[in-house]
Amino acid sequence: MSTIALDVVTPNGSVFKEENCEIIILQAKQGELGVMAGHIPTVTPLKIGSVRVKINGEYEYLAVTEGFAEIRPDHVTVLVQAGEFADDIDTDRARAAKERAEALLKQAEAEHIDQVRASLALERAANRLKVAQYN
Ligand code: ATP
Repeated sequence: MSTIALDVVTPNGSVFKEENCEIIILQAKQGELGVMAGHIPTVTPLKIGSVRVKINGEYEYLAVTEGFAEIRPDHVTVLVQAGEFADDIDTDRARAAKERAEALLKQAEAEHIDQVRASLALERAANRLKVAQYN
């Protein structure tokens, strides 16, 4: 079976690199996308979500923020602000971030709080908590 390489890159460097992936499941803005070797070249925006990658029959899960995936027939590059393995997610930190964002959203109508920013923080925290369940 031919495989495809994956590199997950953040401003702090690569957080995941693997040459032999069987399938890479991305959460694109238009919906879920399963990428295997030989995929047509494309660039797609990603939403806050997960990257699931199958290596030797086992899935690895990463939580990722918004970004882009560049897909080539033999290589996928995922460019995101942040990405963490399910095992590496600090759930206490994510819960605290979720509570902070929820409190900000409650105050948002009365005060000058950036609702979009608080909503995105809430989405990132909820996503980390969801992906952490796959460790
Ligand atoms: P927080 O308010 O807790 O910082 P955030 O959503 O603002 O959360 P990001 O800006 O997305 O955090 O990420 C900043 C850095 O911290 C990234 O390197 C990211 O991988 C890491 N990070 C954020 N939250 C967690 C977490 N719960 N567990 C592990 N690493 C995390």
